[in-house]
Amino acid sequence: MPPFQLASREYKAEDTIIDLGTAAVGSGSTLIIAGPCAVESREIMIELAPVLKNMGVHVLRGGAFKPRTSPYSFQGLGEEGLKILNEVGRAVNLPVVTELMDVRDGELVYRYTDIIQVGSRNMQNFTLLREVGKMNKPVLLKRGLSASIEEWLLAAEYILVEGNQKVILCERGIRTFERYTRNTLDVAAVPAVKQLSHLPVIVDPSHATGRRELVAPAARAAVAAGADGLMIEVHPDPQNALSDGCQSITPQELAKLLQSVKGLEKYKFS
Ligand code: PEP
Ligand code: MN
Repeated sequence: MPPFQLASREYKAEDTIIDLGTAAVGSGSTLIIAGPCAVESREIMIELAPVLKNMGVHVLRGGAFKPRTSPYSFQGLGEEGLKILNEVGRAVNLPVVTELMDVRDGELVYRYTDIIQVGSRNMQNFTLLREVGKMNKPVLLKRGLSASIEEWLLAAEYILVEGNQKVILCERGIRTFERYTRNTLDVAAVPAVKQLSHLPVIVDPSHATGRRELVAPAARAAVAAGADGLMIEVHPDPQNALSDGCQSITPQELAKLLQSVKGLEKYKFS
């Protein structure tokens, strides 16, 4: 047995499929999660959600508690943001995902979201991992900025060992010497983790590249490498976004991206 026992293929040979209500992840088709980095206003979410829904997006994203590098940057709307995301998701019948940053907000975030995101910076917050492990909602576990594949799978293990089997892994780029891109997308981690683990693996090409012109090519690489889904930051007016505007694409650009990934799924099983 590898150190990450419950997450391993040795423990469970068949792919884990996670039911998200109106969609599923891990079953062969590509799950699409899209939405702004942060919930900025009700107006933006009301405008964006039906457009994304009509495009075939399966899950609406939006941060209410934002892990920002600077304490002076926009920190998210907190509970107000959770309410907006929940209301808008319900209105268009899309499940929603948002980040839980602090165990003290566990019950609050649980109430409003369908999928609980554990961010890159919290990948080794073991108290938080155990807490979401006790919840009965799917958890989207992002890879730590400097985490090895083994550390990432051991972080998943903390959730699994508490009883929650619904873990979705998300590769979002790692820190390397390269500064042109915000992070370095570890494409090979996708097939590597698929071989090591039965858990679904999705890719976030937005945080992995940090540059909107690289989001679509990175998304295509991810799907061709066998990713079970994509999480993409979309904003109606990226230049004026309150966070991560440089890596956000417009809904029109997302439509083109989604067209271009079609058919690449056929490489998944080879
Ligand atoms: C996010 O997805 O909103 C986010 C903050 O990403 P990460 O934790 O990967 O930096
Ligand atoms: Mn972001």
